[in-house]
Amino acid sequence: IPKGEVRTRFAPSPTGYMHVGNLRTALYTWLIARHAGGKFILRIEDTDQGRLVEGATDVIYATLRKCGLTWDEGPDVGGPVGPYIQTERRDFYGKYAQLLVEKGHAYYCFCAKTESEEDSGDFNRGPDPCRDLNAAEVQARLDRGDPYVIRQKIPAEGSTTFHDAVFGDITVENSTLDDQVLLKSDGLPTYNFANVIDDHMMGITHVVRGSEYLSSAPKYNLLYEAFGWEVPTYIHCSPVMRDAHNKMSKRKGDPSYEDLISMGYLSEAVVNYVTLLGWSPKGEDSEREFFTLSELADVFDVAGISKSPA
Ligand code: GLU
Repeated sequence: IPKGEVRTRFAPSPTGYMHVGNLRTALYTWLIARHAGGKFILRIEDTDQGRLVEGATDVIYATLRKCGLTWDEGPDVGGPVGPYIQTERRDFYGKYAQLLVEKGHAYYCFCAKTESEEDSGDFNRGPDPCRDLNAAEVQARLDRGDPYVIRQKIPAEGSTTFHDAVFGDITVENSTLDDQVLLKSDGLPTYNFANVIDDHMMGITHVVRGSEYLSSAPKYNLLYEAFGWEVPTYIHCSPVMRDAHNKMSKRKGDPSYEDLISMGYLSEAVVNYVTLLGWSPKGEDSEREFFTLSELADVFDVAGISKSPA
């Protein structure tokens, strides 16, 4: 990866259909890369196997292509790898989870958990008794074949500050963060862990995503610190709302790109309109309403992204 290259990624989970809020995230991600002459990576985050929706990945590929959001790595664009599929990368996550255990920033936990607890990474039942098992005790249980998860060992004291390009600094007390699951008992990573590993491995410099992920972000800093990796620039975007009270959701049939096309809107108009939902141009373009995709790439900047829901 050339030094100084801007690299962004769109990392959808194929757990439902792609509504225009998801499309907006893809657009901002692509525009940041193209504005800087950088690279746009596509990564399918499919480790939550229970929530996969058949056909969702194909809809994502098709929508991006029709909107002109070409990605830069993958066999279909001449590259040897990509789009990246997380379930095909499970060995990496296992390896990095082990490394964290060795460094003392993660631990084996043998307490039985429900699958949804593992997926969400939540653990709110007070200190985990497995946090302080010694190496011999751990080995004995592994030899016995006990099922386990690997959890992040959050420092008991101190605080962590996370910086976001839209929302500024967010500081949390470490005591309020849970020892989230990194690797589940099926050997697959949780969403939060795979995300950090992949963003690092893929050299991502700018992470664009929905603000619903802000609350888990401070735990990322601790992971980056534990590995000694550089934290990318985070750009969390406020949601696109369906109405005054509800944000769009992948499960509730909110409008997709295809819905708008079938209503007769032109693809270029949808792209233009969706980009302006939550981003405004500055300076001489501040009143301008019509842009082609390449004109958007010329003028797009992170500073124009709004903190308010659209
Ligand atoms: N996979 C997540 C989703 O589809 C997005 C995660 C991210 O962009 O960091 O909601």
